[in-house]
Amino acid sequence: MITGQTRVAGVVGWPVRHSMSPLIHNYWLQASGMDGVYVAFSPPQDGFSAFANGMRGGAISGLNVTLPFKQHALALAATPGDQVSDPARLSGAANLVLFDADGTVRVDNTDGEGLLYAFARQAPSLNLTSAPVVILGAGGAARGAAAALILAGVPRVHMVNRTLDKAQSIASVLGPKVQVYDSVSAEAAFDGTGAVINATSLGLGGGEGPAVPWQSISQGAVFMDMVYKPLETEFLAKARARGHQTVDGLDMLIGQARPSFEALFGVPPPLSVDVRALALAQPTAA
Ligand code: NAP
Repeated sequence: MITGQTRVAGVVGWPVRHSMSPLIHNYWLQASGMDGVYVAFSPPQDGFSAFANGMRGGAISGLNVTLPFKQHALALAATPGDQVSDPARLSGAANLVLFDADGTVRVDNTDGEGLLYAFARQAPSLNLTSAPVVILGAGGAARGAAAALILAGVPRVHMVNRTLDKAQSIASVLGPKVQVYDSVSAEAAFDGTGAVINATSLGLGGGEGPAVPWQSISQGAVFMDMVYKPLETEFLAKARARGHQTVDGLDMLIGQARPSFEALFGVPPPLSVDVRALALAQPTAA
């Protein structure tokens, strides 16, 4: 039931119709009995700033932000009084914008929390502080993951990317804990690694995943794929076939949604609802 006091939040992206965030947040709203609603917005690709600035003053409580607007969302916080969290600053991107009544915004990035939540849920025995982590890719998701892992105490991040200068530019911001490799030098990156994360878009929609030198990777290494459509990517299937523990991207999505919900609606999401099972039951889920 929508009332005169319904608290409104949402997700903004372009396109946004594939987003699972409305499903997840509205399940939580329903289960907690709150007077709130979470909807999807899709302004034109060059219209993010006008759209989001129009919400200043608290027309809605806030927005999750997805592609291609995550960098625009960080840039939004340019008015005196606006606040940028450390994870957003280090990631160079924001996935959460909160609109305060005084017209200021607070921007944050909860994707890193999502990544750590996924590891904690599906590979609880992995100690991320004891061995280097390989990140495949150097796009927005890879930078956010590297920032979160460094904040979590990972000794080194080995970033492997087809385009070396993109990885180099991330290392220049995040510091010497990030070491970079291109496809020619990649094999050395996997030596002694504790976890390998696919943060490329390879495997999205069911295609082939990134190449991995399987023989150079120790048996205890955990494989994680940020791609969650399909849930079982080729990358994860190959890792599992070789006996590696695996972590999928859906728990990362849920893990970034949890702190977002609390920031947007003022209460933590209810534990009584299994949003993972509900999301997987959707016909478009995997
Ligand atoms: P992005 O900024 O566009 O970066 C894409 C990355 O993939 C770049 O490193 C790019 O390499 C690499 N790549 C693309 N095609 C390639 C190819 N043919 N061969 C080798 N490398 C290739 O995208 P993003 O925002 O970082 O997202 C990356 C993935 O993470 C997407 O699948 C996205 O859906 C997923 N993601 C999931 C979650 C979650 O909650 N589960 C959250 C965020 C993102 P170059 O630099 O060489 O072009």
